[in-house]
Amino acid sequence: MGKKYVYSFKEGSKEMKSLLGGKGSNLAEMTNIGLPVPPGFTITTEACNRFYDEGQKLWPELLEEIYLNLAEVEKTLGKRFSDQSNPLLVSVRSGAVFSMPGMMDTILNLGLNDDAVKGLISSTGNERFAYDSYRRFIQMFSDIAMGIPKRKFDEVMEKMKEDKGVHLDTELEAEDLKELVRRFKDVYYEDMGTEFPQDPMKQLQLAIEAVFSSWNNPRAVIYRKLHDIPGNLGTAVNVQSMVYGNMGDTSGTGVAFTRNPANGENKIYGEFLMNAQGEDVVAGIRTPKSISELEEVMPEVFEEFRKVTNILESHYRDMQDIEFTIEKGKLFMLQTRTGKRTTQAAINIAVDLVNEGKISKDEAILRIEPNQLNQLLHPAFDTKKLAESEVLAKGLPASPGAASGKIYFHAKDVVEAKGRGEKAILVRQETSPEDIEGMIMAEGILTARGGMTSHAAVVARGMGKCCVAGCSEVRVDELQKTMKSGSITLKEGDYISLDGSIGTVYLGDIPKVEPELSGHFGEFMSWVDEVRRLKVRTNADTPKDSAQAVKFGAEGIGLCRTEHMFFDEARIPAVRRMIVSNSETQRKKALEELLPLQRKDFYEIYKIMEERPVTIRLLDPPLHEFLPSNAKDIEELAKSMGIAAEDLKDTVESLEEVNPMLGHRGCRLAVTYPEIYRMQTRAIIEAALDYKVNDGVEIVPEIMIPLIGDADELTYVKKEVIAEIEDVFRERSDSIEYMIGTMIEVPRAAITADDIAKEAEFFSFGTNDLTQMGFGFSRDDSGKFLNAYVDKGIFAKSPFEVLDQRGIGKMMEIAVDLGRKTRPDIKLGICGEHGGEPSSVEFCHRIGLDYVSCSPYRVPIARLAAAQAVVKERMNLQLDK
Ligand code: PEP
Ligand code: MG
Repeated sequence: MGKKYVYSFKEGSKEMKSLLGGKGSNLAEMTNIGLPVPPGFTITTEACNRFYDEGQKLWPELLEEIYLNLAEVEKTLGKRFSDQSNPLLVSVRSGAVFSMPGMMDTILNLGLNDDAVKGLISSTGNERFAYDSYRRFIQMFSDIAMGIPKRKFDEVMEKMKEDKGVHLDTELEAEDLKELVRRFKDVYYEDMGTEFPQDPMKQLQLAIEAVFSSWNNPRAVIYRKLHDIPGNLGTAVNVQSMVYGNMGDTSGTGVAFTRNPANGENKIYGEFLMNAQGEDVVAGIRTPKSISELEEVMPEVFEEFRKVTNILESHYRDMQDIEFTIEKGKLFMLQTRTGKRTTQAAINIAVDLVNEGKISKDEAILRIEPNQLNQLLHPAFDTKKLAESEVLAKGLPASPGAASGKIYFHAKDVVEAKGRGEKAILVRQETSPEDIEGMIMAEGILTARGGMTSHAAVVARGMGKCCVAGCSEVRVDELQKTMKSGSITLKEGDYISLDGSIGTVYLGDIPKVEPELSGHFGEFMSWVDEVRRLKVRTNADTPKDSAQAVKFGAEGIGLCRTEHMFFDEARIPAVRRMIVSNSETQRKKALEELLPLQRKDFYEIYKIMEERPVTIRLLDPPLHEFLPSNAKDIEELAKSMGIAAEDLKDTVESLEEVNPMLGHRGCRLAVTYPEIYRMQTRAIIEAALDYKVNDGVEIVPEIMIPLIGDADELTYVKKEVIAEIEDVFRERSDSIEYMIGTMIEVPRAAITADDIAKEAEFFSFGTNDLTQMGFGFSRDDSGKFLNAYVDKGIFAKSPFEVLDQRGIGKMMEIAVDLGRKTRPDIKLGICGEHGGEPSSVEFCHRIGLDYVSCSPYRVPIARLAAAQAVVKERMNLQLDK
């Protein structure tokens, strides 16, 4: 016997998804666990691939297998194709491994012809029903399998209703429908030049060919590309005997989720229509009823339905999305699959399933995709108000979040509006670097052009700001200051709301609610925390960010970038004077002004972090970043310093660098001007002493020195830092413990980590710079070319986003090994952007880091990714056994 291409539902199982497709494998599974599934069979995905090899034709052996299976169905049901008393009718449905819009979906009532329609009348005693089914079939088959525009049939139908003076399809009588069948056949003949096929086997063959062909129609191909679904998977075809939801008032059809897919509530959620077939529910001609009403209409059927949903959930151990039909009071299941849901629902369902004893905590942890949590962490629209709001347009979900405000079309108008205390949304055709200020001030950003990596999208994500990009449905007129979507025109100052997580634009100002982090979410995260080994810290530079991070579960600060405190408007003059001083005395004077401010910053951060560890990094960026660039600022600064503007301009120019990222920055600043690091060290230690004295809390500040490449460099800088600490201790006649460590962000440091660990008590991997210097990709310029690497498939993702484990990761592994050789208890962490990216967090777990550190909003994501790393490790161990 040759290869088997057709499986009856009794032969398959849910494990055979790649061969039978999602729908087929689940129909088989339901059949075999004893649920009421109308008999049928599945033609495999392998048959689809062979169909293409055979020049898009079904081959004789396959047709033979189909005959045999069909005969089996006929035998089971005691019905036959074309039978004049009890005819078999079937549905033909596609079923790929992943459900895929754009492909042919369903043909119902296949098998109807001039004989079978008589049989249907005699078996049901319902002439109207029989002709209604026949006309539906001709229309569906012609449209879906043969490509005859549906419109042509609709026109004939409309005319018929007009002639009869009725409004609804249901008002047409049997005779009318019989006439309609005749006219529909004419439409077919006119379009195809052949009669409507009367042989059911011919109908079936054409329908199967249509399903297989639809696998490669342009919409399906684009969808696969977009979702990384391989083109060689093929689709299966399901042929299933029909049951009828349109056989009167004890029949019906519906779709349901076993739990609420929006909020996870453990209550069947869905809708149904009595006396209808599947397409009526979707088509929206009649308004379906809520499933809860089924309990009133047919209590016994509802009871059975509830039993079936319980069986399905227990069996699949997850929320299911199902289709069913009731034929004369008897329930049949037509489909089940794991239901799609919002993040909130996903968490609620996972927690409930654990509490119901259906899944383990480990399984629950794996069911949530870490990045999905993003949806929950930002303030979200009030769901009730949202439901009442009008959708204006849809674009790309470029950066998550919810934002409302008045629309402005120029960055400067946003800035002015903000100055008036308004909430503003920046609407642009596309953004460019000149729009930055407006982007910062805006609640959210909407662009008509540009993709997920356009300027607007990238910058907004970087800022954690809500953005909908590439919203091509809106026409933006920046000159007239209007935007148009369909028939609606909005002008400057009108309100819109944006949901950056799904890319939707709404009319009006929709109120928001703070995220709810307790309840099921809190319970879920407590399981996550029980499981994970990695600690999760945050990158935070201000008390506000620190507080936010603690709320999200941060266990310490892994990176406090002190330069951000220097940019403060009130401080920048002193910072500038410090930089342009031409003597040490002058510089020290400026530093003295900064000292109390920095001390206060650190004290406040310590207080918020309570006893949690805090790593403070000494100044890192090149100095000229702080300097005034325009003439007016230079003049003002010169005046405040009592020097000539010309001289100051020379100094500013002399500080310019050709390649600042590799220039005078990081610990190099301390080699040239040790007094800068000494001031910062003093502020860190004095603040900790104050905290001890004032609040009775003793912490161990972790002082981090950036950009070390050589052990001797660290020796030198550390000596200065310790000397300052000793000074403070002496002055205060007090002391505390402290740690001094370094970032590992220069490749040379990674591969000489054994030497560096002699001086460093901890390492924190600065994978932003390590990636920059490891690849030689400038962080500032890589945007110009890295997209091309991704587009051309050279990289799957930018290495600045997802850690390059093979290369940059290898340097980390080397550094971990070497560092521990010298100092077995060395503390190891990561504070580059990768510290909040799930796959990179998993890597950090595997190479044995102690903690990851990431921006506040990524803390819960990192916690979950760290827990998943442990669960996956356990599962692999089990598999190995
Ligand atoms: C890094 O280089 O990874 C890092 C955290 O430092 P920065 O991004 O401030 O250079
Ligand atoms: Mg760095």
